[in-house]
Amino acid sequence: MLRACILMFICLLFLPSCHEGEPYTVYEFMMDTQCSITVYSRADREAVAPVFSTLRSFASSIDRHEEGSDVWRINENAGIRPVEVSEPVFDLIARAKELSLSVGGAFNPLMGALSDLWDFQSPDPRIPTEEEVSDLLEPVDINALVLDEDAHTVYLADSRLVLDLGGIGKGAAGMLASQELSKLGVERAIINLGGNVCCLGSRPDGSPWRVGLQTPQTGSSGYFTTVSCQDASVVTSGSYQRYFEIDGVRYHHILDPSTGWPARSGLVSVSVISPDGALADAYATAFFVLGLDASMEICRRDGLQAIFMTGEGEVVSSY
Ligand code: AMP
Ligand code: MG
Repeated sequence: MLRACILMFICLLFLPSCHEGEPYTVYEFMMDTQCSITVYSRADREAVAPVFSTLRSFASSIDRHEEGSDVWRINENAGIRPVEVSEPVFDLIARAKELSLSVGGAFNPLMGALSDLWDFQSPDPRIPTEEEVSDLLEPVDINALVLDEDAHTVYLADSRLVLDLGGIGKGAAGMLASQELSKLGVERAIINLGGNVCCLGSRPDGSPWRVGLQTPQTGSSGYFTTVSCQDASVVTSGSYQRYFEIDGVRYHHILDPSTGWPARSGLVSVSVISPDGALADAYATAFFVLGLDASMEICRRDGLQAIFMTGEGEVVSSY
């Protein structure tokens, strides 16, 4: 419950207009976080339950800790055999590989074993040894994620690898929920998956939604800026979201694939705004690892909107 409350605090703030219809919000704890769907017309309310049900089954299929899930089966068969998975899961894994390659490996979904080693949620955390980290980092190579598009199979070419879609799953799930709502005739909605906000349509007056970005300081419930968002996702990665501290040093959950250690790029928060929620999620994680200059270059290259906050509190926008 305490964790749910903390996660509620780290959620981006959604700022409704006072002119729109009565918001109707349903909450559910899923993907290790507090999730919500808000719709604005009475007729749209009945779409929420079926979309939550779709979300639940998608979330289960990519949960690596859930016995029998697609990702669990891939990991169980690492170094043994390819595993056939459902189409949406295959597509997401293919996206994860493609996005990893397009950011030079700063996003890498094969670091599940390292995340387990660091165990950021442990009540009794410890700093792993250099040797423990380097042993698990050694096989991490995106080319060891072998995909067969025709057979819909996924194979981890090294038994030590653990697939972890934690850096992309919520962004993809937000987009999925938005598409499902749209199919059911919903024209405007906000899907908030633990701070990954997906905006469907616009506000009732036709203007874009405004999404507040949370101030990264621990314990703060304020926001440092707002962004306009219409038919797009706003996804944030931050060092304040999941971490432990030992001797005054913070060890947070975003790992640098080149070291296996929490990324130290000088950033404390990165938000990416894109119609492609999976891309926004993967890029926010990658940008956190890459730091400001390299990320701005990718934003220019790919025409992306991102907002960065540095450790000194400087806010930089790519647009
Ligand atoms: P996010 O909150 O989207 O930045 O994702 C962080 C989560 O993704 C972590 O809790 C890990 O499960 C996983 N992860 C950590 N570092 C990386 C990385 N560099 N690339 C991909 N996934 C990562
Ligand atoms: Mg991410």
